[in-house]
Amino acid sequence: MIFKILTLFPDFFSSPLRTGLLGKAVESGIIEVSVTDIREHATDNYRSCDDYPYGGGSGMVLMAGPLGRALERIRGEHTRVVLTSPSGTLLTQDLVSELAGHRDLCIVCGRYEGVDQRVIDRYIDYEISIGDYVLSGGEYAALAIIDAVSRYIPGFMSNRESLAEESFVGGLLEYPHYTRPEDIFGMKVPDVLLGGNHKKISEWRQDESIEKTKRVRPDLYKKYLLRKISGE
Ligand code: SAM
Repeated sequence: MIFKILTLFPDFFSSPLRTGLLGKAVESGIIEVSVTDIREHATDNYRSCDDYPYGGGSGMVLMAGPLGRALERIRGEHTRVVLTSPSGTLLTQDLVSELAGHRDLCIVCGRYEGVDQRVIDRYIDYEISIGDYVLSGGEYAALAIIDAVSRYIPGFMSNRESLAEESFVGGLLEYPHYTRPEDIFGMKVPDVLLGGNHKKISEWRQDESIEKTKRVRPDLYKKYLLRKISGE
């Protein structure tokens, strides 16, 4: 899978792309990541990439010219272009799985007040938000997208079973985990996990998932109930 990042801050990515599973995947060639500095596509001596908004208002806007030229340069026939934006579609596990099907993703990192709408109208296939809050730049969101999508690439995770059991798969949050020792801080591992009865363990985990989802994400729980009622 190829990720092509467009950013004003290429250095932002050096450490994350060398760290953990993402670092290993880059090193082994399971994923390929290119980072392009939008400023390389500016045309003036100051390498300007932002300007004042038409109509007034605070802040600056990323200009269409440098970004459009950068996109023209790196976009291939099969590239899908993602814009990181707080006003985009909320990133969910379903959307992550859809993005993983594309194999060639370009991710545009916004800054300032955002990007000129004409870039969005002309080049953007997905406008994606990673949550209902405002970050100072799209680089944080780009990393979240790359990491979440990469977990679907064969070879990225040594244990692909965890993909099927994690939060959001099946519409529920994940059950709690415990590891050794059995007793710490006066707190014990639930008996059911020590008994070796796989059916009971699986039922307990399902109950815990449902209880947690109901408690912390009533929105997901409601959807889960609706799906159950409709027999999905
Ligand atoms: N003026 C914009 C608004 O109110 O929607 C906020 C711009 S924000 C300060 C700068 C950039 O950070 C955005 O263009 C986008 O690329 C990125 N960004 C901020 N919050 C984000 C979020 N929740 N999800 C994805 N990207 C985000």
